Amino acid sequence: MSAAGGRPSVTIIGGGASGVLLAAHLLRDPDTDIRVTLIERRGQFGRGLAYSASQRDHKVNVPARGMSAFADDPEHFWRWLQTRGYPAARGSWVFVPRRLYGVYLEQVLTQAGQSRLGRLVVLSEEVVSVREGKAGVETVLANGTSIVSHTAVLAVGHETQPARGRGIAVRVGSDRDTPLDPQAEVMVLGSGLSMVDAWLSLAEADHRGQIIVVSRNGLLPKGHRDVPPINIDAADVPFGTNAPYFLRWFRALVDETERAGGDWRSVVDGLRPYNQRIWQSWSEHTRRQFLRHLRPWWNIHRHRLPPELHDRLARAVDTGQVRLVAAEFVGVERNGDGVRAGIRPRGTTERKTIDIARVYDCGGVSVDVLGSSNPVIRDLVANGQARPDPLHIGLDVDDHCAVVASDGKASQRLLAVGPLTRGRFFEIEAVPDIRVQCATLASRILHPTPTH
Ligand SMILES: Cc1cc2nc3c(=O)[nH]c(=O)nc-3n(C[C@H](O)[C@H](O)[C@H](O)COP(=O)(O)OP(=O)(O)OC[C@H]3O[C@@H](n4cnc5c(N)ncnc54)[C@H](O)[C@@H]3O)c2cc1C
Repeated sequence: MSAAGGRPSVTIIGGGASGVLLAAHLLRDPDTDIRVTLIERRGQFGRGLAYSASQRDHKVNVPARGMSAFADDPEHFWRWLQTRGYPAARGSWVFVPRRLYGVYLEQVLTQAGQSRLGRLVVLSEEVVSVREGKAGVETVLANGTSIVSHTAVLAVGHETQPARGRGIAVRVGSDRDTPLDPQAEVMVLGSGLSMVDAWLSLAEADHRGQIIVVSRNGLLPKGHRDVPPINIDAADVPFGTNAPYFLRWFRALVDETERAGGDWRSVVDGLRPYNQRIWQSWSEHTRRQFLRHLRPWWNIHRHRLPPELHDRLARAVDTGQVRLVAAEFVGVERNGDGVRAGIRPRGTTERKTIDIARVYDCGGVSVDVLGSSNPVIRDLVANGQARPDPLHIGLDVDDHCAVVASDGKASQRLLAVGPLTRGRFFEIEAVPDIRVQCATLASRILHPTPTH
């Protein structure tokens, strides 16, 4: 490996929202001489999994006012939308198509590059490994070349697991999602936001047959309402308690707010500034309990649907076009041209079978990095440069986003951002949280202090 040289340099691996936001924050500081290389294997920047959605109805689930790339310029996205013809009179409480947000992020990146000519290099390649040495970090690409920089940041985001059912269930929009009889009954596994995407794709294809939605908890995402967050004093938040205690406190606050004419959403949103601290204040046991018992419930209240989509979904449930079944999926086998799915309804031990035309797996995104199919993650874990966090929901990182090796030492040069760091921060899935993480990390990279 040749030395990284004089000018500070950063290689960012992954050009989805997290990679683009970090690049933009790094290049924003006019007083530094940073050189940024952003590497993305999809060929498109700013899209990633979320914002490469192709349909108009696949909407961003945060109102436009919350989606600026820069937390210190909250109107940035809203101003951009107005240049694209969004009428100011509609106000910034709008939910735009996710593909449009991807265009915004791409332009944020383009502008960042134009503002610091020669400081941004973008490469459409896959990264296969990263090696940390004394002189710098070497990022190796699938084409056999490599880049040496002072720092490398993993922004590889989400990973979709292969569909369940030994290849019989399919992912919506995949090659195996061939045209269906529009009257056919289908089953969707999972009842979260990915299910909503699948249901919208089926609706777009004019599917009229029943959609049986199967999930263990049978919970559907709630809808947004334009209500302000309540102010919660840090001193009133029960940091460091256990899950039952915390839940009682939270429910009491919701009751109190609703008795005063308020809305539960104001409590969920009022808690947001503390979510990472609450997570970090819990013991590993409490975090596990939360993941096992409370996460589905938290997700439906926290990650909400735009109101018009929520109303549409509620109508589809009322008319029976969508049938929600609380059950465990136990398997699927081929049955003539269709499939036979096995489920175990919640609270029972009986196994039921249902014959349908197809099973769609909307089980969400991969959670255990040990099962990752991403070559760079596999390589880092295999050679001990990285390890899973204790709950196996991401990579182990320290409070400053430094990747922790298998011997427990935090790296000086290899960092991570975005959902990959959820074991440490938990609430690090959505843009409002990721942009703050990127701003903090950019500042640390640009202005290192002896304590970092
Ligand atoms: C379906 C869906 C909808 C969502 N909707 C919203 C929303 O409306 N609002 C919101 O705030 N949040 C939303 N989120 C949350 C989302 O996590 C974040 O907004 C954000 O998109 C995460 O971006 P990311 O770059 O970290 O991850 P990703 O989007 O997964 O991007 C990672 C990128 O890294 C690239 N990559 C991975 N490995 C390599 C490699 N080895 N070499 C080169 N490139 C590589 C991938 O190709 C990918 O483009 C949504 C998430 C999903 C899954």
